[in-house]
Amino acid sequence: MPDTLAPPSIPTAPVTPAVLDGLRAIVGDKGLILDEQGKEPFVRDWRGSLVGTAAVVVRPGTTEEVSKVVRLCHEHGIAIVPQGGNTGLMGGATPYATHSGIVLSLGRMNKVIEVDAVGYSMTVEAGCVLQTLQETAANADRFFPLSLGAQGSCMIGGNLSTNAGGVQVLRYGNARNLVLGLEVVLPNGDVWNGLRSLKKDNTGYDLKHLFMGAEGTLGIITKAVLKLWPAPKDVATAWLAVRDPQAAIEILSEAHAASDDNVGSCELMSRAGTDVVLRHIPNVQDPLKADTNWFLLLEWSSSRLKADGAEGMSEKLEQFLAEQFEKGRVLDAVIAQNEAQARNMWTIRESVAPASRAEGGGLSFDISVSTSQVPAFIDKGLEAALNILPSIRPYPLGHIGDGNIHFSFMSPVGMDRETLGQYAPAITRAVNDLVRDMAGSISAEHGIGIDKIDELAHYRSKVELDTMRCLKRALDPKNIMNPGKILRL
Ligand SMILES: Cc1cc2nc3c(=O)[nH]c(=O)nc-3n(C[C@H](O)[C@H](O)[C@H](O)COP(=O)(O)OP(=O)(O)OC[C@H]3O[C@@H](n4cnc5c(N)ncnc54)[C@H](O)[C@@H]3O)c2cc1C
Repeated sequence: MPDTLAPPSIPTAPVTPAVLDGLRAIVGDKGLILDEQGKEPFVRDWRGSLVGTAAVVVRPGTTEEVSKVVRLCHEHGIAIVPQGGNTGLMGGATPYATHSGIVLSLGRMNKVIEVDAVGYSMTVEAGCVLQTLQETAANADRFFPLSLGAQGSCMIGGNLSTNAGGVQVLRYGNARNLVLGLEVVLPNGDVWNGLRSLKKDNTGYDLKHLFMGAEGTLGIITKAVLKLWPAPKDVATAWLAVRDPQAAIEILSEAHAASDDNVGSCELMSRAGTDVVLRHIPNVQDPLKADTNWFLLLEWSSSRLKADGAEGMSEKLEQFLAEQFEKGRVLDAVIAQNEAQARNMWTIRESVAPASRAEGGGLSFDISVSTSQVPAFIDKGLEAALNILPSIRPYPLGHIGDGNIHFSFMSPVGMDRETLGQYAPAITRAVNDLVRDMAGSISAEHGIGIDKIDELAHYRSKVELDTMRCLKRALDPKNIMNPGKILRL
């Protein structure tokens, strides 16, 4: 990963004492962080691989304050880095080392404005932590399906700005599918109020989709109307030892009908990925010691409460697994018998990122191909990477039902980051060329940020890049909104 990439055109207008006074007049002292120690968590990314700088971290408490802050920065040409929970993995929320402007943190805007249980929606501020929103929905006997490893600290504004994926995409779609309306502060400070709870609204361009996945380069999401679903009432979670990735996609393919369309999640894990979690994360048990490199975390869930004596998700899943065993796809399996066992399975899956961070350096590619191509991608991708560096330690995993593999590698034992860095460009090119040849995406869910800016330029067509630049210039002619992210202008 790059430590710093010098972006070609990032505004360098400083936060002068007069501008600082202006910011203080808008947000007060409680909304400003000026000391280096206080700013530190806002200028360093989650992985600890990027460190930037900011004149000041501004923490507005309302949309009106966000608007005034942005208008002031716009007047003076000062660059703004919007930030939510700062858990992004591509450096989008991290200011460059040359950044002379502000980080605008949404963390104080954390109110749930309304829960409409009857209409299956809730209206929230952008700084709400994802897990709080899941709990808010559950308290109203509803379900907000966005779910990912960082849910205890990532914020909904960040989730929408990265169009986050996670472990429920298979059934509910990614973040942009969970949204009915948005409120956004544009780069000139204007507020676009698109906070509508409409299922149907064909009134011209659907502006909300412009801001989702834009990684804060087109405006600042301040509020959202989110869709809700019925709460799951009957859930069965299983850990399967499977023959190989081909068996995994065939299992999933047959699971849809066998579960009456109730597959919630289907996550591929490898032996090496499981082991790295067992090494670094306390209080986690290995669910199965089967002799295979491949595991599946499969969850079926229904919003219908299981009636006494009736067949529920667990019984259906058990029968299905027996059939899959007969077909030679499943080698062994365990169905969680209680909440703690299910949680243990999920902890393994969700702890891969922190565990691999604890393990030390590595490479990871967040790619997608069509689901049926996943096994071929894994085979060819491993061969390509191992040809370049035979001692690198692969642990592919991910949202196999979405065709999204986190194609990840630990450093060879004893190899330092710098040496691994010498191999990284060749491995990156080999993996991403394969993705291109298989008509896939070089970023399935983590976005572009800083890390993939040059890869995006390499793989997307001139027409596509020019259209993106055209939108950016139209909305942000001064290039103050998260400059140098996604695109070089
Ligand atoms: C352990 C772990 C597991 C993860 N698992 C997944 C996963 O399964 N799926 C997945 O998709 N991602 C995953 N991620 C990545 C990350 O959690 C998501 O990208 C998340 O959506 C980012 O939210 P955040 O609030 O932390 O955003 P930040 O990191 O603060 O920001 C991300 C981007 O959005 C912009 N931004 C933030 N808030 C706003 C706003 N209000 N308006 C405009 N722009 C804004 C920032 O400028 C930046 O470009 C994981 C990360 C970790 C650390």
